[in-house]
Formats: sequence, C-alpha cells, structure tokens
Amino acid sequence: MLKFVRKYTFIQKIICLCIVLCIAGTTCSCNLLNRMLSSLLVPERRTVAFSEMTYTRPDFKAVQSEIETLKKQIEKDNVSYKKQLAGLRNFNRAYWDYYSMYSLCYVHYALDTTDSYYKDEYAFFGETNPKMQYLLEDLFVACNQSKHKKRFEADYFGEGYLDAYDEGSSYSPELVEYLQQEAKYLQQYHDASADDTITYLGQKRPFSELMEEARTEAEQEKILSAYKVQTNKKLGEIYVNLVKTRLQIAKLLGYDSYAAYAYETLERDYTASMGAQFVNQVETYLVPLYKELTKDGVGYPELPALSWQQISKTTGKALSGIDPAVKDIYTYLEEYQLYDAAPSSGKIAQDFTTYIENYDAPFMIINPRGNWTDVLTFAHEFGHFTDMYLNYNTNYSLDLSECASMSMEYLILPQIAKENAELSRKLSAYKMYDTLSVYITQSAYTAFEQKVYQLSPEHVNLSEINSIARDVAQRFGSEERSNFEYTWAMIPHFYEKAFYCISYCFSNDVAFQIYQKECEQAGSGADVYLDLIQWDAQQTFLENIQRVGLVDPCAKGRMQEMRDFLADYYGYSDQAAAA
Ligand SMILES: [Zn+2]
Repeated sequence: MLKFVRKYTFIQKIICLCIVLCIAGTTCSCNLLNRMLSSLLVPERRTVAFSEMTYTRPDFKAVQSEIETLKKQIEKDNVSYKKQLAGLRNFNRAYWDYYSMYSLCYVHYALDTTDSYYKDEYAFFGETNPKMQYLLEDLFVACNQSKHKKRFEADYFGEGYLDAYDEGSSYSPELVEYLQQEAKYLQQYHDASADDTITYLGQKRPFSELMEEARTEAEQEKILSAYKVQTNKKLGEIYVNLVKTRLQIAKLLGYDSYAAYAYETLERDYTASMGAQFVNQVETYLVPLYKELTKDGVGYPELPALSWQQISKTTGKALSGIDPAVKDIYTYLEEYQLYDAAPSSGKIAQDFTTYIENYDAPFMIINPRGNWTDVLTFAHEFGHFTDMYLNYNTNYSLDLSECASMSMEYLILPQIAKENAELSRKLSAYKMYDTLSVYITQSAYTAFEQKVYQLSPEHVNLSEINSIARDVAQRFGSEERSNFEYTWAMIPHFYEKAFYCISYCFSNDVAFQIYQKECEQAGSGADVYLDLIQWDAQQTFLENIQRVGLVDPCAKGRMQEMRDFLADYYGYSDQAAAA
C-alpha cells in the first residue's frame, strides 16, 4: 500500500508548482503597455470582499469602437493634440475594466469549470482578447506615425516606447485567428483536465472513486496505469494542437523559434540558449547525485495528513511570524477572503495566483492534497500574493515572481519550528529533497519543451512527443518515479505557458540563498526578501538580485556549489567528488 501511496503522491506532486497568471497583455509590447498604464494609476487600494466583487461581461463592441475612433482621430489629426491625449488617457478605464472582468471571470471559471455561465464567459474572452491586442497594435502604429509621436511619448507612453512600431503592426488577421485558436485549445485543456473520468472494465467512472474502491494494491496499479495512458491520450492530443498553433504564432511574429518568443514574452534577461546551457549544467552536476539517491531509495519523505480547513490557519500563523509587513498582508488576505483552498469537483487542476486590477486585489486558488505539502503550496502562492500586493502587479518578470513565491516556502520553515519542532524537521527534509527535485524535474521539463518546439509542424504528434518524454526521463533519471512518458501530459505549465519551468530553477537558486541567510541569522533572510521584492522596475532580474547582494544563479560554478551542498546534506560527498 505504501508503495502505491508514494507513486500517487508523485502524480500529485508533478502538478504542484503553481502558475502565476497575468491575464492582461499576452505579447511583449503589451507587457510594456501594462506597466505604463499601471504607472498612471493612483495606488489607492480599492479592494472589497471577494463575494462582493461583481462580474459583468464587458461591452466589447463599445471598447472596439472607442479604440477605432481614437485611431482615426490620431491618423487624421482632425482634433487637437490635447483631445487625442485625453482620448488615450480615457481609454485606460475601458482597458482595465475589460482585463479586471477577464481575471474575475477566470477565477469563477477555475473554481468550477463545469459552471456553464462562466464557461461561456471565459470563452468570450478567449475570442475577444486577441482582437483587443490587434486593435491596440493598430492604435500604437497610428501614434508612431503621427507628427505628435514625441509628445505622445513624453506625455503618455514613455520615451522610446513607440519605436517598437516603426515597422508597423506585427499583428495580422491571421495571427488573431491563431491566438483565438490557442485560447480555445487552452479552454479545452482546462475542461478536460478538471474531469478525471476514465474507462475501466467497460465503465466510465471518476479515477478518484475507482481508487477509493479498489481492494488490492494490484488493482490500484491497474487503475493508475489506465488513468495515465488515457489521460495522456486525452490531454496529449490537445497539447499537439497547441504546439502546432504556437509554432505558427512565433513564425507569424517573425521569431526564429518558439523558445525565443516565449523567453521574450516572459521578460527574461537571459536567452533561450542560456536557459539550455543551465539545463546542461544541471544534467552534468546534479543528475548523477539524483540518480544515486534514487538508487538508494531516497525520495520525498511522507508527511502527515492535514485537513483543508486547517491549511490557512496553520500557515497563516507561521507566515505572520516572518515579519510584521508579511503579517499585515496575511491579515488583508483573510479580511477580504482572497483565496480558495477547498477541494471541490470541477475545480481547475492547478494552483495559481492572479490579480484583479480594478479591485487592486490578488487572488489565490489552491487544490489541496490533504497533507502538509499544502502548507508549502499555500506559502508559495502567498509569496506571489505578497509580490502582487506590494507592487500592484507591476512586476512582469516571471523569474522575480517565482523568487517571491519560492522564498516564502523556505522562510516559513523556521516559523513552523517555533510551534512544532518535529513537524518542522519533516517539512525541512521534504523541502530539501524538493530543492534537488526542482532542479532536476524543471530542467527535464525544459529539455522536453526544447525538443518538442524544435519539431517541424508535420512531425508534431502524440507518439513523437511521448518518445521525447521517454528519452528525457532516461537522461534525467526520472523514468521510474514519474512514468514521464505518459505523465508529462498532466503538467499544466506545458499548456498554460510554454518555457515557464526554467524560471523555477533560477528562482529557486535565489530563494535558497535567502533561506541560507535566514538560517544564519533569524530575520536577515526576511529582510533581504522584502528588499528584493520591492523590485526596482528600472532594473532587470539579474540586476535586482545583485542589488540586494545575492549571487547570480547563472554564475560559473553555481551548480557545482549546489551539488556539493546537497551531497554533503545527504552524506554523499565522496560520490559527488568522484562524479
Ligand atoms: Zn509560482
């Protein structure tokens, strides 16, 4: 029985790391736009309780006509400059109303993907959002070509912003269609992944029910195996369509590869080839240690059960001990009930934090696993929550977002020790193995995506992708633990945002440095953390890291250092030195 529990836990684990979702703006230029628009808002928090946030479908036709009228006025220059500028400024309200309702709708949809009302509403945004991006690009091209270009930049966009539109719009009706297609496949994936029904012995039944009723370990193994194969087929086919669509999107936007496009939209200050080099370092230095540990049966320790009702209470107390500023943010989260950690059927199969702009409110969704890993998940999401709260969601670097969340997982450990030393030891041992596991699995996921997106469109099919997954699992030593050949199809990141996973490696390195500081002197890690997440928006990710005195994760020798540290922790120093 134990053997099975461990395997099942692994399936839960591979979908554990969250996704931070910034709904507004899906292209690079729009990320810049969001930053610029946000800077124009007066930061007076407008939060109300989640239950009082009202959703109404935006009038997209009115938004469309507002942008088109504005564009014509700018093109014809038939109204004064003052009026054109006022038109741009007025448009901010319509823009944020639209994206606030998009986020709010997404939260409701995620809470219950079977609710037909929010399902339709979510589909409405999938349809209209690419059109919105297209209209905006056209508007900015008009601003770029206007004789008032410099004044627009000085008064509204910021210096140099419009230069990106020198060549005209990168959007075409064809691109809009591909983006709409991508949104449709994503919704198909959400609907399909929230439903765990499988066919077993000729009957369609929920996987969770079948597992509960199974009487022997052998029967559970059979059900699990059927689940993996059938889910791989069901979700994998959607992934195939997504990849084909994305290859077209990158091509239409003029990128050499989808990886290059993805790294740019995620606002990274390292390139896809630097990411690939990092993956090679992990493979060279950490994989041999990981394989040794696997051979010796070292893995995630079992953690005690924890009911979902206890998650926020337990975590809240520990989080509040980190720093008074963190405590205030936790009080705010509770006061406005900006999270949902209850298990329910139809709930989206992932953890995430998003931001509802018009209420200046982050919101977290957690799928509880029923044990103490939920405390780490809650802390992780709360790290995103803290970043979004303090920065009014103006940080668009995924790496910085993940530093905020992963650090919180480490910072909570010494606080839990104050209440329960034994539990804290178990949780720390879990987190230590997780530290190694993050490097291995997230690098393996990145290696997988690198190969998949290098395929030519005619070679993108499920059997080819399963075979890539099999090879990657062998290289990274994860074939026995995860059955990755099939289970890759259950990882939300591959659907939600390609090339997301490498951020976990870079950010974990930073988070771990913060943890080391906290262990050396209580409070010093929390100080660096709070200093780091009050990002300097003028600086890149790596510059922000260095600003607070931490070491660049890409620095030469970092992975050797990490290998030495972990080998020492596990008492494998001799083997590591020989590797
Ligand atoms: Zn995260």
